[in-house]
Amino acid sequence: MDVVKGLIDKLYKENRIERDQLLYLLDNLDDQGRDYLFARAHETRVKHYGTKVFMRGLIEFTNYCRNNCLYCGIRASNSKAGRYRLTKEQILSACQEGYRLGYRTFVLQGGEDPYYSDDAIVEIVSEIKNRHPGCAVTLSIGEKPCESYKRYYDAGADRYLLRHETASRKLYESLHPGASFDSRIRCLWDLKKIGFQVGAGFMVGLPGQTNEDYVEDLCFLMELKPHMVGIGPFIPHKDTPLAKGNSGSVEMTVTLLAIIRLLLPQVLLPATTALGTIDPLGREKGLKAGANVVMPNLTPPGVRKKYTLYDGKICTGEESAQCRQCIEKRIIAAGFTPDMSRGDNVLWKRKDTV
Ligand code: SAH
Repeated sequence: MDVVKGLIDKLYKENRIERDQLLYLLDNLDDQGRDYLFARAHETRVKHYGTKVFMRGLIEFTNYCRNNCLYCGIRASNSKAGRYRLTKEQILSACQEGYRLGYRTFVLQGGEDPYYSDDAIVEIVSEIKNRHPGCAVTLSIGEKPCESYKRYYDAGADRYLLRHETASRKLYESLHPGASFDSRIRCLWDLKKIGFQVGAGFMVGLPGQTNEDYVEDLCFLMELKPHMVGIGPFIPHKDTPLAKGNSGSVEMTVTLLAIIRLLLPQVLLPATTALGTIDPLGREKGLKAGANVVMPNLTPPGVRKKYTLYDGKICTGEESAQCRQCIEKRIIAAGFTPDMSRGDNVLWKRKDTV
C-alpha cells in the first residue's frame, strides 16, 4: 500500500507519472488504494471546478455510418440496424427544445455519414450559433480532412469529440477494419492545432485489452493533453462480431477516470451513458471519482432507440425533459451541483484561425 499510496501522491502533486509506475499502480491497486485514489481525484476536481457537474444536450443526428468498427451497433455491415437521419430543421428544433430546458451546450454526434457534406455541417453549426449566441456547439462526427475541421471551427463549432478508442496500435487495427490508427491520431492533433477544445478517449474492457493497453492510453493522454476525455466501458451489441464478449467493469472504468483527473486536473470528464448502463449507479460512481460532465439525451424520442451503439443503452425511452430532471436529481443526490452554463475547460480560449 505504501508504494501505491506514494504513486498516487506523486500523481496528485505533479500530475505526471512514469510509464512503468502507471503499470505498477494499475497492477497493484486494491480497495483501499482505490478509495485513496478517488479521494485525491475528488479533491482535484473540487479545486478546479468545485462540485459543478456540467450538462450537455446530446443530439444523435444520424446512425448511418460508413465504418465497420467491430464493437459498434451502427457499423455499416449491420443490416439489422434501422437507419435514420435528422433534417437540419429537426436538429434545430432539438436545440431549441434544449435551450428551453436550459442547456447551453449542444453536442451533435453521429456515425460517419457522407450524406452531410461539409457545407451542410457548416450551415447547421452556423444556424445554431446564430439562433443561440453564447451557446457552445460540440461536434462528434468522426475523421475528416484538416480543411473540413477548419471550416467547422470557422463556422463557430467550439469543441470536437473524437475518442482515440485505444492507443494500442495492434488492438486498434484489429477492431477497425480498413481504418488507420495514424489517421485517427493525426485528426486529434489537427483539431488541437486548429483551436478546438478537443476530446479524446477510449473504451474500457475491450476483448483482449490489458493494463499495458491502458498505460498506452494514459501516456497518449499525457502527451496530447486534450481538454475533454470520454471513457466508458465496452458493452457488447448483439448484431456485431463482438456480441459474445463481456462488458468492461465499473471498477476499472472509475479507476481510470480518477487517474485521468489527476493527470489532467482541468479536464472535462464525462460520467458516460455506457457507465450508467452497466451499473444503475455507475454515473454517480464516476462523479465521485472525478468526473464532472454528463450528457443527457436531446435526440427526438422517436428515433432514440435506433442509435444503439451497444445493448441495453439507458435513457432511450424518455422525453428530453424527463432525462434532464432524472439526471439533475441524481447529481444532487450524489452531493454535486448541476450546472447548465457553457462550462468551457478553464484552460481554453477561442482563437481565430489564420
Ligand atoms: N462517429 C463518431 C462517433 C462514434 S459513437 C466518431 O467516430 O467519433 C461514440 C463512441 O461510442 C465511440 O467513440 C465509441 O467509443 C463508443 N462506442 C461504440 N460502440 C460501443 C460499444 N459497443 N460499447 C461501448 N462504447 C461504444
